[in-house]
Amino acid sequence: MSYATMQDNTATPPAVVPKRVAIVGSGVIGCGWAARALAAGCEVVAFDTDKAAAERRVAITIDTAWPSLEKRGLAPTADRHNWRVTDDLADAVGEADLIQENVPERTELKQQVLAAIDAAARPDALIGSSTSGIKPTELQAQCTVAPKRVFVAHPFNPVYLLPLVELVGGAQTSAATIDTAQAMYRGLGMRPLVVRREIEGFIADRLMEALWREALHLVNDGVATTEEIDAAVVYGAGLRWSLMGTFLTFHLAGGEDGMRHMLEQFGPALKLPWTKLKAPELTDELIERVVEGCEHQAAGRSVNALEARRDAFLTDMLALVEQYWPEAEGLDGRI
Ligand code: NAD
Repeated sequence: MSYATMQDNTATPPAVVPKRVAIVGSGVIGCGWAARALAAGCEVVAFDTDKAAAERRVAITIDTAWPSLEKRGLAPTADRHNWRVTDDLADAVGEADLIQENVPERTELKQQVLAAIDAAARPDALIGSSTSGIKPTELQAQCTVAPKRVFVAHPFNPVYLLPLVELVGGAQTSAATIDTAQAMYRGLGMRPLVVRREIEGFIADRLMEALWREALHLVNDGVATTEEIDAAVVYGAGLRWSLMGTFLTFHLAGGEDGMRHMLEQFGPALKLPWTKLKAPELTDELIERVVEGCEHQAAGRSVNALEARRDAFLTDMLALVEQYWPEAEGLDGRI
């Protein structure tokens, strides 16, 4: 397929803000969705098998997220109190326009939960799964009412700040569902990236896992500490990636002739056996080395304190990306 042909399927539908968003599974990711939806002006109803813990977590996440969301700009109708938690799934999803499933990453559990959501939701409601890598065809397999409205909507932590959401349809997902999903996630202030073909791990997690595997090998082989590896990303490649990603960054590495020269010069090095595609065994020793490394880096700062610092940074960083790519409208092939 030529590049121009692939570019054809890029029109992005206009944003539509869902009125009510249901969150099913209110852990790290579910709470992140709740905060994002509130900032976009939606009403949020959350469901979790542990209602009390969910209530506590949603409240904490909103407290953490709201200063950054205010700085990013709230919808005129945004109300940080417009949410409740229920222990009745039908109550959570029955009147929702968009339902986001965020239960633990186990195929069987997700299949059961999605089938129950499908049975209790309005027939026109959309059902997105936050799965990090399970194929949507598997996820929708037990849905009997309207599996065509079930798809993957894979976000990134913190969901309330990072705009990317990968949309992946399964064998039964309709094209209209993916169109409406693009409009609704844009309504939540996101950048939907429609993954053309259903693959495990989608696009972003495949990239992140490749880096993660190599980083674990470097720790396992005693080449570097977790801190040194993080420094290699933070002060080098990471800064460039946040503006230009991998390909456009390498286009510039080729000098005036861009990517063509870059491939001539560095292409042969790809054949050198630098990287190990197979993951290292997670031995007790490797686990301890990685955990101790991260605790040393955290230097007594709590996860919550680090989250607050990360959020403030991401808020400024997003403004910078927008400043440097003012022409960007959607993920339509250009940054
Ligand atoms: P988590 O463990 O923090 O939260 C899971 C929540 O689901 C818990 O609150 C738990 O009580 C609840 N739960 C368990 N069984 C349930 C059921 N039957 N019905 C309703 N709620 C139930 O997990 P998480 O990190 O929020 O991950 C959730 C999903 O999001 C996973 O599919 C994961 O792969 C995906 N995801 C995670 C990240 C991340 O960085 N953590 C990023 C993107 C996607």
